[in-house]
Amino acid sequence: MAYKVNCGQDDGFMVQSEDESEVVSIVKRHAQEKHDMDVSDDDARGMIEET
Ligand SMILES: [Zn+2]
Repeated sequence: MAYKVNCGQDDGFMVQSEDESEVVSIVKRHAQEKHDMDVSDDDARGMIEET
């Protein structure tokens, strides 16, 4: 099983990992750097699709 997040803002960003905490931290950093958005751990987890 892997955890996957698509940014959903048409910038082609996608992250996939078997480590949920890694996905959360990468999503938070992407949101901050590319979209100037503060995303909480819970928000980031809510974006995860389990595959
Ligand atoms: Zn993005």
